Amino acid sequence: MPNHVIVIGAGLGGLSAAIRLAHRGFKVSVFEKNSTAGGKMQEVISDNGYRFDAGPTLITMPFVFEELFKSVGRNLNDYLALVPLESACKYFFSDGSSFTAYCDLNRLREEIARVFPSETENFERYFQYSKKIYDATAENFIYNPLSFSRLLKSNPLDLLHIDAFSTTHAANARFFKDSRLVQFLDRFPTYVGSSPYLAPATLNVIPFVEIAFGGFYVKGGMIQLAKAYQRLAEEFGATFHFNQSVQAILTSNGKVSGVKLESGETIECDAIVSNDDAIHTYANLLGEKRIEEKYEASCSGFVLCLGVGATHERLAHHNIFFASDYEKEFAEIFEQKMMPSEPTIYISISAKSDEGQAPEGKENWFVLINAPFLSPAYDWEKNQTAYRNLVVNRLKSLGFSSLDGQIEFERAITPMDLKMKFNSFRGSIYGISSNNRMSAFLRPRNRGKVKGLYLASGSAHPGGGTPMVTLSGKFAAELLMADFKV
Ligand SMILES: Cc1cc2nc3c(=O)[nH]c(=O)nc-3n(C[C@H](O)[C@H](O)[C@H](O)COP(=O)(O)OP(=O)(O)OC[C@H]3O[C@@H](n4cnc5c(N)ncnc54)[C@H](O)[C@@H]3O)c2cc1C
Repeated sequence: MPNHVIVIGAGLGGLSAAIRLAHRGFKVSVFEKNSTAGGKMQEVISDNGYRFDAGPTLITMPFVFEELFKSVGRNLNDYLALVPLESACKYFFSDGSSFTAYCDLNRLREEIARVFPSETENFERYFQYSKKIYDATAENFIYNPLSFSRLLKSNPLDLLHIDAFSTTHAANARFFKDSRLVQFLDRFPTYVGSSPYLAPATLNVIPFVEIAFGGFYVKGGMIQLAKAYQRLAEEFGATFHFNQSVQAILTSNGKVSGVKLESGETIECDAIVSNDDAIHTYANLLGEKRIEEKYEASCSGFVLCLGVGATHERLAHHNIFFASDYEKEFAEIFEQKMMPSEPTIYISISAKSDEGQAPEGKENWFVLINAPFLSPAYDWEKNQTAYRNLVVNRLKSLGFSSLDGQIEFERAITPMDLKMKFNSFRGSIYGISSNNRMSAFLRPRNRGKVKGLYLASGSAHPGGGTPMVTLSGKFAAELLMADFKV
């Protein structure tokens, strides 16, 4: 009889582990509280022809996804089409200027020279600096489970390169005089739910990752990636049990022995991979007290999916409209835990790259505002409508004055929804914040605290974002296989 592994949750991290374990001959049963796979990689479909990626909209590090398929003898291209984007994002500054972050490095250099002519040499220095952080962190913090013995063996010079004692903003301001370029680079820590004014400059690794590895879209919508993962897991015999929420992890003699479902049914197993948020797993499924107090959640998001009955030529697939006072915006989100009074607005329009995503001559706007993680400081039930109106009014003031009359479909997603639907820690998008320079060391490990438990999610090592959680699933599966000597 093969060992039975239960995977709690069919988000990308859980699916990545399920694929590898099923391929290695384990009996794999995936229990998912919702009716479909993908977790935060969700979609919204309207009755009038609009489709939205209502979670991730841009992916990078394509080799992480390719490796998953290759590791089980398959080719990603037979399952989905990763579409390289011409530009990762178009940035609109509050002074009316704009800048396009082209994915081709030479084109990006030309754009830097066009918009920031006095900063071209500084950009070259910055790119090398960001690359050095990548080189110094990749092995220990990205591509392997966290291991102190490996850390101890690393080159001490790497410590100098990771720039852990500045904040990302202070480091960016050290390189550039043009505050718009600093603001552009300050955006990157938000891709792991952190503040550039608090997070260590080690997060300046992210610009290198985006510039060197490019930005990608999945044809037909991001959800196709999750569907491909599910199909692959099923091809190797994993079974999926949807609308089945795990209420508790059962243990016997200090080792996991099974799970208890919401229905009361218990199911035995030899090991568990939890793709449930790591903090929720320990606090709610294992009853660990006070763990929530030990961690700061990453920021959350307020989403508006807007079916817009017109086309807007000045917008690209990915767009950011910056706030005029970035520091104030982050103080509101991370210190006051309030929604920003003048938010930076991200708009992703997949119909710009994939015609079928909206009716002809129309656009599917996925509008995302960074939001504080859930706390008593901000009451979503009371404030949601007023905040929605603030966002639409701000969009109107940014040059979309006819927007009111163009909205043909609308759906909001709040931090409350992320918490209720996915058990995400305080409604966070990326799990645990990296606002503290110790975060990378304190993040829950992939081998859990109970024998036979493994963690694969954005709140576990190596962190949030679609490539990272795919790696999280890889590490959880590999540690499990090593422990079971399979
Ligand atoms: C609005 C938004 C925008 C984003 N943009 C990007 C982006 O552009 N690029 C990018 O790379 N990343 C982005 N992300 C982040 C990315 O979506 C996540 O980091 C990643 O998808 C999380 O995957 P995960 O495996 O940690 O689990 P999740 O997606 O959180 O999935 C966990 C699954 O477990 C299930 N579950 C939880 N508890 C239980 C239980 N007790 N029993 C049964 N099932 C359970 C949940 O229902 C869920 O399906 C975005 C996220 C959001 C919300």
